[in-house]
Amino acid sequence: MKATKTLISTLREAPNDAVIASHQLMMRSGLIRKLGNGLYAYMPLGYRSFMKVQKIIREELDNAGLLEIKPTVIQPGDLWRESGRWDKMSGEMLTAQNRQGQDMVVSPTAEEAFTALVRDGLSSYKQLPFTLYQINTKYRDEIRPRYGVMRGREFTMMDAYSFDKDQEDLNASYDNVAAAYHRIFKRMGLSTISVKADTGSMGGSGSEEFMVESPVGDDTLLLCPKCSYAANVEKAACQTEIPLNSEGKPQVKTDLPIEEIATPNVFSIEDMEKFFGEKSTTFLKALVYKVYNCALDLSKNEFYKNTKTVTEGGISYIPETFFCVLIRGDLDVNETKLAAELKSSEAELANDEDVLKYSGVPHGFVGPVGIKIPVIADKSTVDMHDCIAGAGKTGFHLKHVEPGRDFTPFMTADVRTCKEGDKCPDCGGTFYMKKGNELGHIFKLGTKYTKSMNVTYLDVSGKPVTPLMGCYGIGVDRTLASIIEGHNDDKGIVWPMTVAPYHVAVIPIQYKDKMKEVADKIYSELNAEGIDVILDDRNERPGVKFTDSELIGYPVRIVVGDKNLPNVEVKMRNKDEANLIPFEEASAKVAEYVREELKKLNK
Ligand code: ATP
Ligand code: MG
Repeated sequence: MKATKTLISTLREAPNDAVIASHQLMMRSGLIRKLGNGLYAYMPLGYRSFMKVQKIIREELDNAGLLEIKPTVIQPGDLWRESGRWDKMSGEMLTAQNRQGQDMVVSPTAEEAFTALVRDGLSSYKQLPFTLYQINTKYRDEIRPRYGVMRGREFTMMDAYSFDKDQEDLNASYDNVAAAYHRIFKRMGLSTISVKADTGSMGGSGSEEFMVESPVGDDTLLLCPKCSYAANVEKAACQTEIPLNSEGKPQVKTDLPIEEIATPNVFSIEDMEKFFGEKSTTFLKALVYKVYNCALDLSKNEFYKNTKTVTEGGISYIPETFFCVLIRGDLDVNETKLAAELKSSEAELANDEDVLKYSGVPHGFVGPVGIKIPVIADKSTVDMHDCIAGAGKTGFHLKHVEPGRDFTPFMTADVRTCKEGDKCPDCGGTFYMKKGNELGHIFKLGTKYTKSMNVTYLDVSGKPVTPLMGCYGIGVDRTLASIIEGHNDDKGIVWPMTVAPYHVAVIPIQYKDKMKEVADKIYSELNAEGIDVILDDRNERPGVKFTDSELIGYPVRIVVGDKNLPNVEVKMRNKDEANLIPFEEASAKVAEYVREELKKLNK
C-alpha cells in the first residue's frame, strides 16, 4: 500500500475524553474515529489490525473444530421472552418495534438465537456434540461507555455456543475452547490470567474469565501466591476467620440477656466504635437490600409466604424483594455475590424510604432481632457471639446479641467482598491484588436455555433429553485495545508482528530520484515476499514521516536517504539502535526477520 492511496491522519493531541494509553493512541494514530458516545469506526489502518485479530481468532477456533455461522444481528424479542430474559436484560438492550408492532432486539449476546437455531434441526444424539460461533456486531446500552473501544456501546464479539449430550462432553467442549483461547491470546502477544468467575453457588469450576493485567483495568483480581487460585473480586471467596473480640481473642458465648442502649447520635460503624469502645469485629452490621427477580423459594418465610411469583421461561421469581443482610462490622457486602446467592438478577442497597418501610427504622439502627424481612447472614457472622447490633428502634442499639438465640437467619451465605490480605479458600495463602481487563469468558451454562426454550434430542433409546450448553465470548475490540495498552512507549504503538496494520514501512526521505527508485524496489520486493508493507510516498517532511511511523508503530522501518545510499537504514520499532545495510539485501533480510517474528508468536 502506498501512503498516498490510503488514509493516514494522525493527531498531535488526543481528545480530552481519551484518558488511557490505548484510547489516546488509537485516536492519535487515526486507527479509529468517534461517531457518537460509545460508537467508534475503524478507519483503514485500524481495520487491518482489527481484521488480523479476527483472523487469529477464526483460525484457532476453526482448528479446534468449531463451526462458524452468520446469524442476524437483529433478533425477535419473543425469543427473549421465551428464555425469560426480556425483562432482566431490558436496561442493556436496544429494542425497537417494526411496522407490524413486533419487538426487535439488537443482539447484546446470542444465547437465545443460537438455542433457537439449534432447536430447529436437532433430533438425534448422533448430531452431538458441536460448537457454533459467530464474529458479529453487538450492542449494549452501557451506562458509562469509556476508554474508547474497551467499553463501547457497539462492539464486535466472538461468541460461541456448545451443545453436548452430557456433562462429560460439555467438560470436553469447554476445555477445547479454553485451550484455543490460550493459543489465540498468545499469538497476539498477550499474556492472560484465567480467573475463576463462579461464585460457588453455580457449582464447580463452571466459568472462567480471561484477564489481561492492566493498571487501568476495570476489574480487580485477587490472586494467591501459593496455589493457582485467581478470582475476580466480584466473585472471589476467601476463608472465614474466627471472629475476634476487642482483645483479639475468639468471641465467646454469653448468657447475659440483651441490653438496650440509647445511642441517639450513633449512626456509622466509626460512631459505634467510639461510643462502645469496642472493635468493629464485634458488631453485626445489618443492611437492607432491594433484590430484583429473586428465584429463591421464599414460601417458608412469614413475610413473603403469600407473595405471588411470576413464572417466565420455566423459572418462578418475585420481581422485587427486600432482605436484611447481616455481616461482621469490619466487612463489606458484595452485591454480585449477594445477587447470585439469592438467585436474582441484581441486588442494591435499599433507599431511605424502603429501609424505613421494611425495617421500621432508618439505616444505622437496623438490626436482626425481631426484623420481619428475611435475614441473610454472611458466613463471617456464623461464629460471632456477644455482639452489638442495631435495635430496630430509632436511637437504640443492643448489646449481648447472640445469633441463634436472639434471631434465626433465613439463610447463611458467602456475600462478603474479599480483599488483599484475606486468605485463599483453597490453600490459605494470603491474597494479593491486581487490576485487569476481561478479554474473554467461558461458561458452562448447563440446561439454562435448552430447558426454558424446549430443546431436546432423542437418546440411544429414543427418549427425549435436554442437551447441555456452554457459552464462550471474546471481545474483539477490547482485545485489540488491550494489545495496544500493553505494547506502547512514549512515541506510540509498538505492535506485535501478528497484528500490526503493516509489518514494514518504507520511508524515502524524499520520494524522488534514486531514493524513489530504491524505495520502489524494496517495496515491490517485500510485496512479492508476501510482507504487509506500506510505502510512505507522501510529500511530507522526513520528521513528520518518522513521527507518524513511530506513532502508528510499524514493527520495522526502512529509511531510504541520499546520504546513506547504497545503504539503507533498518530500524525495529522495539529497539533503539538502527542498522545500515546495502539496499540490495534489505528486502530479503527484513522479510526473514518478519517471518521469524511471526513464527515466534504463532508457534
Ligand atoms: P464486562 O464485565 O466488562 O461488562 P461482560 O461480563 O458484560 O463484561 P460478556 O458478556 O462475558 O462481558 O462478553 C464477552 C466479552 O465481550 C467480554 O469478555 C469483553 O471482552 C467483551 N465486551 C463486553 N462488553 C463490552 C463492551 N461494552 N465493549 C467492548 N467489549 C465488550
Ligand atoms: Mg457488561
